[in-house]
Amino acid sequence: KATLHWLSNEYEAGDFGMGGMHLKRGGYITHSKIFTESLFAERGVHWHLRAHTTAVEPGKVHYETLDGEEHELAFDFAMLIPPFSGVGLKAYDRKGEEITDRLFNPAGFMLVDGDYEPKPYEEWRASDWPRTYQNPHYPNIFAAGIAFAPPHPISKPMKSAKGTPIFPTPPRTGMPSAMIGKAVVASIRDMLKRGATEPTHTASMAEMGAACVASAGAGFFSGTAASMTVYPIVPDFDRYPEYGRDIDLTFGELGLAGHWIKYILHVMFLYKARLRFGWSLIPE
Ligand SMILES: Cc1cc2nc3c(=O)[nH]c(=O)nc-3n(C[C@H](O)[C@H](O)[C@H](O)COP(=O)(O)OP(=O)(O)OC[C@H]3O[C@@H](n4cnc5c(N)ncnc54)[C@H](O)[C@@H]3O)c2cc1C
Repeated sequence: KATLHWLSNEYEAGDFGMGGMHLKRGGYITHSKIFTESLFAERGVHWHLRAHTTAVEPGKVHYETLDGEEHELAFDFAMLIPPFSGVGLKAYDRKGEEITDRLFNPAGFMLVDGDYEPKPYEEWRASDWPRTYQNPHYPNIFAAGIAFAPPHPISKPMKSAKGTPIFPTPPRTGMPSAMIGKAVVASIRDMLKRGATEPTHTASMAEMGAACVASAGAGFFSGTAASMTVYPIVPDFDRYPEYGRDIDLTFGELGLAGHWIKYILHVMFLYKARLRFGWSLIPE
């Protein structure tokens, strides 16, 4: 049996780049840290947190932790998820002058209608998050899905004793990407065909929920999956002062039903992707 290690820049397990979440389970409200750690513990997965991978060499990963210490971990097989960034496009206007910084942030993501004013974590608001995904300088340019620049992370930014930033970036998953894409397409349609001068549809990650079904073992009767929903994705402490999210719409559960849901979604989304009869009735 293989020994599995999970090495992450999260401050706590179950942060997921969303600052963690509180879940209502069996009459208790618990943090996603407990949910995730119990999932790992039950499956014998070792977890190493607050860690930044500094180098990978054959059979060995080097990492720094928030306390500034250097560590290494040996492996036979490893999967490294690199820092998330845009494709690094350069943009020029019709006179040939470079306009890259009017369109993209330094990580290569497109600037849209978010509030990009740098401010401390304590001053972050749900309203900082973009709603229409229209570039402020070029109204005919939109960035849907994972292409848009988030205004800031969701998890609290942390720096190691040596000054290395060690924290996760916001999750950029399929469900919000699809909902953003749908809103952008509807806005462009209204601007092209119905004479609208402004985008008519919105899809803020601070106003939408998302579901995640993570497989934890396949098998019609023996499979399991962790099913989670959050509402909203970006916590809004003005609307939900206690937990930042609607606790009735934010839950997590592990079990066989999750595996079946994952399988059903798989079949439905491939059906939708092929544009078969009735595809538009299948939600994002
Ligand atoms: C390994 C992995 C697992 C994932 N698992 C899940 C999951 O279980 N659930 C979930 O919800 N999300 C998951 N995601 C995230 C999900 O895949 C993305 O959020 C989603 O695909 C983003 O959609 P998008 O349309 O914005 O971008 P993309 O799907 O990346 O689409 C961008 C498209 O643009 C094309 N393109 C790029 N450059 C150019 C160019 N110059 N000209 C023309 N075309 C170009 C690319 O080829 C691509 O087809 C996963 C992602 C990865 C990488």
